[in-house]
Amino acid sequence: MDNLKDEIRRLSFELEAAKKELEATKRIIRIKEIELDAVIAQAEEVSHVDALTCLPNRRQVIKQLQNEVIRAERYKTTLSISMIDIDHFKKINDSYGHTVGDQVLFQLANILQESVRDPDTVGRYGGEEFLVVLPNTRSKDAAGQAARLCKRVRETDINIGELIRMTISIGVAEYRHGQENWQKFLSRADLALYESKNNGRDRWSISE
Ligand code: GH3
Ligand code: MG
Ligand code: MG
Repeated sequence: MDNLKDEIRRLSFELEAAKKELEATKRIIRIKEIELDAVIAQAEEVSHVDALTCLPNRRQVIKQLQNEVIRAERYKTTLSISMIDIDHFKKINDSYGHTVGDQVLFQLANILQESVRDPDTVGRYGGEEFLVVLPNTRSKDAAGQAARLCKRVRETDINIGELIRMTISIGVAEYRHGQENWQKFLSRADLALYESKNNGRDRWSISE
């Protein structure tokens, strides 16, 4: 009987010790989770790549634009940009849900990436807005690219389990040497984009 009592005491003691150890391990896991979250947040902060589309993110594409404006100003070379916005994207989200909306963004990003050739770059400027930077390019030629992009997107099946189609609108602007900074340049592309929207979408406009 005494042997049995000793055994119970010993096992109870070991159980308590194991519980304490478990609590300590849980605390360490919680701290590690917090540390991991912080590092991931920092990585996203310094990242140049948009997590959803894998395109250059907003910060990176703006940096690209700033650098090209400096270069165009210094060497008096031509520079154009195209601001792209998906037409009626809200309807896609409303009809199929946000996750499918994300898949559509991913597929559109691939189409844009495949259609834009070096040294042009395309980045994700905002939620469903993309910016193309075209060094050494006149607006006439940027408009040619914009027309091809509109056509390609219009004619491409987007696979979300079923096949859907969509369209984009584009605003093109050519940099005005000595007359504007990158913000003004960008806002002219934005205005041209709104003109495309107002004139019926699925088209491009040039900022005059
Ligand atoms: P239009 O541009 O033709 O005027 O119409 P729109 O429906 O595209 O209008 P708007 O630009 O106002 O709406 C954009 C929508 O894009 C609203 C927002 O919920 C959605 N959106 C923005 N970012 C994301 C994202 O990362 N994922 C998804 N699924 N939706 C997004
Ligand atoms: Mg928009
Ligand atoms: Mg839109």
